Amino acid sequence: MPALTPSQLDQLVKKLNEDYQALLREVREELENSGNQHRIDLLNSEPGDSGDESLANALADFNLTILDRHIDAMRDIEAALQRVRAGEYGVCIDCGEDVGFPRLMAYPTAKRCIVCQEQREKRYAQEGRPTL
Ligand SMILES: [Zn+2]
Repeated sequence: MPALTPSQLDQLVKKLNEDYQALLREVREELENSGNQHRIDLLNSEPGDSGDESLANALADFNLTILDRHIDAMRDIEAALQRVRAGEYGVCIDCGEDVGFPRLMAYPTAKRCIVCQEQREKRYAQEGRPTL
């Protein structure tokens, strides 16, 4: 019961891929500034077609704190693309309802519908520790 039409899904996948490429470009620039050729070589290998291997995980091994934010975002996108392949994209992981196209256009990596997201944020606000 996919709530997204094929063309909506196409748009979202395109957006995810564009965001991913933009992140890669930034990561590459930062690595070039740090002057480590081995890391740059890794980035020049073709991403995406290496089975289950995560480029974000490979980058995380480099342990550059400056890249952490990018790596988290790349992981989110990789996970979203995996949900697309599994046919689970756009379905709230908490309640199973549709996340909705407008919300996905704003947050292509959203895993929850707006209702569950707000509940979650309220819960963590009460506990006072915004962990994962
Ligand atoms: Zn939900």
